[in-house]
Amino acid sequence: MNMPTWRELIAASGLPRAEARGLAVHAAQRNAAWLIAHDTDEAEPGVVAVLRDLLARRQRGEPLAYIIGEREFYGLSLRVTPEVLIPRPETELLVELAIERLPKNGRLLDVGTGSGAIAIAVAVQRPDAQIVACDISPGALAVARDNAERLGADVHFVASDGMTDVPGRAFDVIASNPPYIAEGDPHLSQGDLRFEPAIALHCGRDGLDMIRRLVRDAHAALRPGGWLLCEHGYDQGEACVSLWRSTGFGAVEDRRDLAGMARVCIGLKQ
Ligand code: GLN
Repeated sequence: MNMPTWRELIAASGLPRAEARGLAVHAAQRNAAWLIAHDTDEAEPGVVAVLRDLLARRQRGEPLAYIIGEREFYGLSLRVTPEVLIPRPETELLVELAIERLPKNGRLLDVGTGSGAIAIAVAVQRPDAQIVACDISPGALAVARDNAERLGADVHFVASDGMTDVPGRAFDVIASNPPYIAEGDPHLSQGDLRFEPAIALHCGRDGLDMIRRLVRDAHAALRPGGWLLCEHGYDQGEACVSLWRSTGFGAVEDRRDLAGMARVCIGLKQ
């Protein structure tokens, strides 16, 4: 019996080409170069069944990162499961801003670390730093610990509701990508967000409940001269700037991501 070629399987899926090719590479346990070289070969029967199953999952909307089990972030390959938010490219801005502000041998806390993306990316770039990362979800902490170990990142993980159970004070930088989507926002029922943990996505009627708590707690836990950096939604920039200012932060600024969206609010504890 003739088997379809890789190219035929990919075309028949109706998925965006890059996505279907990614799944084909994953099913064949090869790499992108191999697939280019074997595009018009017949696929092996066992692999065809596996690939059809992966393509069907994607057709039903399951995020590519969960199907493949990994996502690239800041040049690192992170393991991701449905226990954690899928790291987004816009969060790389937060990592950059954190690295710039972290003094030599400084202490950074990542609140709500999820897959560990922010903490691990900083730790890999800055082996001199002491990095603490917390999350309320035991499932997320297990994923984050595994990522740190595989990537050789020295991060101390703590189970904590917000920053409540994080020991120690006098952090130089506190960074967070907290849940910030308003409950009932239509985006929650679209795309990848339908499959991601609710606890990592939405928070209160205006989405700012966790951010309000973070700003207050971070102000108490930063050393004077330390920075709070927090990701927020595209329409929350002004609200964040006034929240930072009214909490006593100085040098408050809202930074835009590469897509030009207001994305990260920063402020200095004076
Ligand atoms: N940036 C994500 C999105 O809007 C949300 C992540 C979050 O709430 N921290 O798709």
